[in-house]
Amino acid sequence: MENHYPFTLPPLPYGYDALLPELDERTLHFHHDKHFQTYVDNLNQILERYPDYQDWPLEKLIQNWTSLPEDIRQGVRNNAGGVYNHGLYFQTMAPTPASAPSGKLEQAIAQDFGGLSELKRAMRTAALGQFGSGWAWLVSDSDGRLSVHKTANQDVPFPLIPLLPVDVWEHAYYLGYQNRRGDYFESWWRLIDWPQISETYGKLMENRPPYAK
Ligand code: MN
Repeated sequence: MENHYPFTLPPLPYGYDALLPELDERTLHFHHDKHFQTYVDNLNQILERYPDYQDWPLEKLIQNWTSLPEDIRQGVRNNAGGVYNHGLYFQTMAPTPASAPSGKLEQAIAQDFGGLSELKRAMRTAALGQFGSGWAWLVSDSDGRLSVHKTANQDVPFPLIPLLPVDVWEHAYYLGYQNRRGDYFESWWRLIDWPQISETYGKLMENRPPYAK
């Protein structure tokens, strides 16, 4: 995907039935092809009238939304966030049963949480504790320290580095789970692409300045 205007919808990285039984085809169809597409379309529609920002990467739009012209500020905040968050969400799930984290990520989870089950508990608490629509996140700071956060609506936890998001908007689970966010969380947990996230985190640690801890 081009990382600036005009943004395009990245294809779903697996088949619509590939995440069964955890996530059903209708949920993925509506979530990816309708909701995600709408964030992409809305963001393009906003930027169409503002050539000054058309070469801004997605991350720059998100991190600087408060300095944008007043009439597009909130729209960019919501829709650029929606594009970023959904891109990462669909990318960090995988159809094959997920293995555990490995390498530096496994070590960091042990150090910062006490282990994978403690990380899961923290993510679950954040996901279920987010009142209304939003996200729960596993993030890293620039030194590699991990933490869990929640954000409302489509906010992104920048400048922390997002590693793993879980979408807790009802549109992410309502067709399959209705009001049962906790059941959805348990299913989502089984879909996490740990090998990929371990690789992302490993690269992040390699590129860190030598003075960092
Ligand atoms: Mn969503």
